[in-house]
Formats: sequence, structure tokens, C-alpha cells
Amino acid sequence: ADGSATLAELTARQSVCRACPRLVEWREQVATVKRRAFAGETYWGRPVPGWGAEEPRIVLVGLAPAAHGGNRTGRIFTGDRSGDWLFASLHRAGLAAQETSTYAGDGQRLIGTRVVASVRCAPPANKPTPEEKAACFPWMARELAMVAPHARVVVALGGYAWQAMWPALREAGYELPRSRPPFGHGAEVEVRHGGAPVTLLGCYHPSQQNTFTGRVTARMLDDIFLRARSLAV
Ligand code: SF4
Repeated sequence: ADGSATLAELTARQSVCRACPRLVEWREQVATVKRRAFAGETYWGRPVPGWGAEEPRIVLVGLAPAAHGGNRTGRIFTGDRSGDWLFASLHRAGLAAQETSTYAGDGQRLIGTRVVASVRCAPPANKPTPEEKAACFPWMARELAMVAPHARVVVALGGYAWQAMWPALREAGYELPRSRPPFGHGAEVEVRHGGAPVTLLGCYHPSQQNTFTGRVTARMLDDIFLRARSLAV
């Protein structure tokens, strides 16, 4: 039945998932206690679905939603500092309609691009356990299978996403090399899906730690997304 489901059905089914007790408790606790700056807001506090184009040429894979970002706004990378860098760069590359993404309903739109998380609920300290990654993996695998007829480029945002997306891509029918090539900024791996070529791209995560220390610059992000766009046409 999964094979014939639509993205909307997948989102609906995933939205009520409570498979990981620790993450369910955390996402709801954060949504209740809140951060002072957002005290007046109603937090999402549930699994954060994939978001963007329904028939994307480019798929971005992140690790998990941020407690006060996606877990607050209900939209991945929206309302947090990683997202500020990500969407500014996507906009410069012509993949996002606006340079900011602050709340669901702000008019932001992804162009030919979809963003998904490997783990859909916010984890404490941004660190899901191996069991939680394994529990959530089928949601991403199903989503990757659904968008596979269109996707020409898959970009991993950070080494954890690179690691996590491998089994999901295999499950989704991608023909992958036997062993996983090392992650790096600008790493490129040619694979196939249903006979069509697909490029997997590595991109350092635009986390506050990386951008603050200069490990990731706006230029470095732009290089990846411009490359993704050129591969996707
Ligand atoms: Fe379900 Fe994934 Fe959230 Fe675990 S992390 S509760 S599997 S949606």
C-alpha cells in the first residue's frame, strides 16, 4: 500500500507517529515549556514532515528538526539560525522564493526543491540515538522513493545526514556503491535510480557552530546549491 500513497498521505500518517518515547516526550516538553522569546507562540511539537516541491529535482536531507526551529514552526529549518543561512543561499541559487524562512505561512516557497529530515522529531541536544534513527528511517525511505522519478540531485546537509540517507536511498531503490564514500563538502557520488543518473552531493551543515567558526561560509553553501542546480536541469 505504501507504494501507491501520496506525499500528503505520507505526511498525514507520519504526523501522528509516536514510535520513539524519548523524542515524543522531548518534542512535547519543549512545546510546553518553550523558549522565552517564543512564549506567546503555539509550538508545533510533532513530527516535522518533508516540505517543498512535490516533484523535486533536488532533495536536501537534514538530520532532525531543531527544538525551537522546526519543532516550533512546523516547517523544517524554519525559524532557526541554520535555516537563516540555508534559505539565504537557496534564494541566491534560485531555489527558494525568499531569502528568509521564519514561519509557516510567510510566503516562502522552494523551487524544484524539497527538504526532508532523517529523523522527524526534535532530539535532545540534536542527537538522536541509533534506535531512533532506525525507527524513523522508513519515513524518509518512503519519501525518497516517492520523489525518485523526479529527483536528479540529493544533497546531504552534514555528515550525519550523509550517513543516515544511505540505507534510506537503498531502500528507496537507488543503485548505490557497495561501500559508502566518505563525506566531505563538495563530495559527489554518481548513482542511478531506475536507469536515470542521480548525483549525491555532500554539504557541510549550516549549523551555528559551523557558520560562526567560518568552517562554513555563504560562498561555500552557494557553491553547492549552484552545483546542484546545474546538475538538476
Ligand atoms: Fe516517529 Fe520518526 Fe518521530 Fe520517532 S522520530 S516518533 S519514528 S516520526
